[in-house]
Amino acid sequence: MILVVMDHDGNELRKGALEGVSRARKLAEALGGEVAGLVVGPGAEGVAEKAKDYVSKVFVVSGPDWETYTAEKWAKAAHAAAEAAGAKVVVAPASRTGRSWTARLAVKMDAALLEDTLDSWAEEGKVYATKYSFLNRVLEKQAGSLPAVISVKPNTTPLAEPAGAGAVEPLAVELGELEKKVEVLEKIAETGGKVSLTEAEIVVTGGRGMGSAEAFKLIEEFADLLGGAVGATRAVIDAGWRPYAEQVGQTGKTVQPNVYFALAVSGAVQHQAGMNKSKVVVAVNKDPDAPIFKETDYGVVGDVHQVLPAMIEEVKKL
Ligand code: FAD
Repeated sequence: MILVVMDHDGNELRKGALEGVSRARKLAEALGGEVAGLVVGPGAEGVAEKAKDYVSKVFVVSGPDWETYTAEKWAKAAHAAAEAAGAKVVVAPASRTGRSWTARLAVKMDAALLEDTLDSWAEEGKVYATKYSFLNRVLEKQAGSLPAVISVKPNTTPLAEPAGAGAVEPLAVELGELEKKVEVLEKIAETGGKVSLTEAEIVVTGGRGMGSAEAFKLIEEFADLLGGAVGATRAVIDAGWRPYAEQVGQTGKTVQPNVYFALAVSGAVQHQAGMNKSKVVVAVNKDPDAPIFKETDYGVVGDVHQVLPAMIEEVKKL
């Protein structure tokens, strides 16, 4: 059995959950057995009804102890589900939270940990994965013995399709002393409930050519109008105009939206590494030879400070 821990927002499965299912199915084909899922936290019961369409069985861990996230609790829930499923491999998203609890889970399971992987497969009783290392300058192939915990880099893997209804099984997990050491007292969301960058269907990225932090107000306005997320290049992050969480690229986030706007972005290879799987790319750049135009479906050669306000006005008319 392969267990996939399925991220969700309390209502819907996140993309990372469906990427995890794709990986888990591939591993199950090679190692034998079925794919089980785990949903944890607020809204888990409702989400499990959707999750069961992708896996043969969904474990649900919920209740007052599970209203807030801590890495210790999530590792405990995943360990309990892995034991209940008799899982040889646990697959989880390498989201910010996933990165923090998967290491703890690997220790609990005495398992090999293959982190932030681009791809994974199994051969002759071992698991293999590829990942970037050394500031993403090196592509590394790793082998792990079983049991193993594999985390999936967001937006690297096709999303799984539903495969018929599985069972839903509540799983009672008692918190121990370790999980009670940290208690979350209050949560203040930085993004005010806006769309997350790795999940967004539309991403609006500004580059150094925007000229200032102030100019990103226009990027924010355009992204809000489209229900999208704001992205930025590393040059922008280095200038301190935007937070690192918004960096797209080799050393930032990988995104795969339906539409990617690259505004005053040159299109360096390290930036393209994070956005070149976008379905449609729209670029505005004053330099007709900017490399971004090689990746672009719709391009405007012009000054972003004239073109973007005009785009905003047009969208407002829709
Ligand atoms: P620039 O390259 O300076 O481009 C600005 C563009 O704006 C130009 O094309 C210019 O023609 C245009 N422009 C200027 N003014 C206007 C205007 N008024 N109207 C329209 N267009 C205008 N970069 C990332 O983005 N993400 C990463 O994860 C990343 N990782 C890296 C990892 C390593 C190991 C290294 C070495 C580099 C990495 N970089 C990364 C940096 C990358 O090489 C580029 O330096 C960076 O992407 C450039 O950002 P930019 O396009 O905003 O700036």
